[in-house]
Amino acid sequence: MGSNAWIRWLATHSPAACPRCGARRVVPIVYGLRDGDAEAQGLVRLGGALDASSPAWNCLACGGSGGSALEVRLRAEPSGS
Ligand SMILES: [Zn+2]
Repeated sequence: MGSNAWIRWLATHSPAACPRCGARRVVPIVYGLRDGDAEAQGLVRLGGALDASSPAWNCLACGGSGGSALEVRLRAEPSGS
């Protein structure tokens, strides 16, 4: 599955454990990628449109979320270089 490398990279920008409940069930939220398989496996949550307030990760245990998806994306796709 081609998106696995991208998902693994995204996961490096999510905390290993949820800062809210401590569960190690934090997954990156993927925007603009239709990957029902990855979601079904519990590897990612699918987000909608990406905007400045979109969180980067989601805790499957408590539903908490955090980080900045936009910031992570900018690191992945540096503009102008
Ligand atoms: Zn949590």
